[in-house]
Amino acid sequence: MHEAGLIMEALKTIQKSAVENNIQQVTKITLSVGRLTMALPKALSFAFRILSQGTMFGGAELEIEQKELCLECCTCGVNFSPADIDFTCPECGSALIKILEGHELHILSYEGEADKIEGNCCPEVAASK
Ligand SMILES: [Zn+2]
Repeated sequence: MHEAGLIMEALKTIQKSAVENNIQQVTKITLSVGRLTMALPKALSFAFRILSQGTMFGGAELEIEQKELCLECCTCGVNFSPADIDFTCPECGSALIKILEGHELHILSYEGEADKIEGNCCPEVAASK
């Protein structure tokens, strides 16, 4: 499943960041999904539910924002969002286009709960010992 791979990648990235920030439990994730990924939000949610079980993401809320495509014409430089899969420039008709946005999945934000660390958490204090 295509969506499972995308979710897996996203979770890996968030997990790395969460560990660095001492976050033990992630409670909410907001993803931005480009239309060109062809990923269906429903399938993403499903993959997330399966993959998050028993991990730090278990029970977290997943919010998905769908992102429209943003293209740039390489001939005249105009930016546009195609209505369908017709990727030709509306200004000059050129088919030489560049995808600016819409072909990937971004992690917009995530929220989590950090372990409460008392006292010895300052790296400067630890280093001066
Ligand atoms: Zn153009």
